[in-house]
Amino acid sequence: QMGKNCWSVYRPDRNASQEMINRLAWNDRISRAIELGLLRLHYQGVYETASGELAHLEALVRMVDEGNPERLIPPGQFIGYAEKSGKILEVDRWVVRESISVLSKTPHLPALAINISARSFDDPNLPAFIAAQLQEAGVDPRRLLVELTETSAVSDLRDAERFINALQRTGCHVCLDDFGTGFASFAYLKHLKVDILKIDGLFIRNLTREQDNQVFVRSIIDVARGLGKKTVAEFVESQEILFMLQAFGVDMVQGYHLDQPQALHPALVAPRQ
Ligand code: C2E
Ligand code: CA
Ligand code: CA
Ligand code: CA
Repeated sequence: QMGKNCWSVYRPDRNASQEMINRLAWNDRISRAIELGLLRLHYQGVYETASGELAHLEALVRMVDEGNPERLIPPGQFIGYAEKSGKILEVDRWVVRESISVLSKTPHLPALAINISARSFDDPNLPAFIAAQLQEAGVDPRRLLVELTETSAVSDLRDAERFINALQRTGCHVCLDDFGTGFASFAYLKHLKVDILKIDGLFIRNLTREQDNQVFVRSIIDVARGLGKKTVAEFVESQEILFMLQAFGVDMVQGYHLDQPQALHPALVAPRQ
C-alpha cells in the first residue's frame, strides 16, 4: 500500500505495529465481506415528535463474521479502519446500492436514511452514482436521506460544499450527523446547505440530568429553526427524555426507547389492505 516496489518488515512487538496489523487484517476482511456478500443492513425508526408517526428508517451496516456466521460484527469495529484505508468508499457504495434496492421494494416506506462518511467526499462521482442508481430503480430521490458522518475529519470545506451541492441536485435530502460535537459544527452551517441536523446522542443520553446539555440542545434547535432546518435527536432512551425533547420542540426522535435497529423492521412490511 505504500507504493510501487516497496516492502517493509513488521515486528509485532510494539503497539504501533499491532495497530498496523489490525488495519491490514480488517482491510482484508472488509474486501472479502463485500466480495462474498457478508454485509447486512439493520433498520431503526426515526419518528415525528409531535404525532409519533414514522418519518423514516435509518439503515445501519453490520458484517457477518466469516468464522461464526451467527455473529454480526457492529460497525464500530470496522468502519474506523475502513475510513483510514479508504475502503469506506466501497462500503458506502454497497450501502447506496442495497438501500435503493430496498426503497424500490417498499413503496409504502416514506424514506430511508443512509450513513455516508465524509471520507467519501474523496469520491466525487458518488453523487452521480447515487442519482444513476435511483433513476435505474425508479425511486423518488426525496425518499433517500443521506446522513453525513465523520464530518469532523473534513479538511477542505470547499470539497464538502461541492459534494453536498451535488447531492442536493440529485434531489435527495441531506443531514449532518453527530451535530454539536467536533469543533467545526457551527462553521459548517454557514456553508453547507443541509436539510436536517441530527443532534449528537452524547447530548441526549443524559439530557434530564445534565443542565449544560439542555442548554446546548435548546440552542441547536433554535439555530436550526432560524436557518429553516429540521432537527433529529438520537439516543432517546427514556420517556422523560422524550417529554423534554417534545417541550424543546425537536422535530424527530430516534432511540432505544422507541425501537432497536433490527433486520426485519415492521415498517419494511407492507400494511395489509
Ligand atoms: P450513528 O450514525 O450515529 O448511528 C447511531 C448508533 O447508535 C447506531 O449504532 C445505533 O444502533 C446506536 N443507537 C441507536 N439508538 C440508541 C440509543 O438509544 N442509545 C444508544 N446508546 N445507542 C443507540 P451502530 O449501528 O453500531 O452504528 C455506529 C456508527 O457506525 C454509526 O453511528 C455510524 O457512524 C457508523 N455507521 C453505521 N452504519 C454505517 C454505514 O452504512 N456507513 C457508514 N459510513 N457508517 C456507518
Ligand atoms: Ca447516522
Ligand atoms: Ca449520530
Ligand atoms: Ca456517531
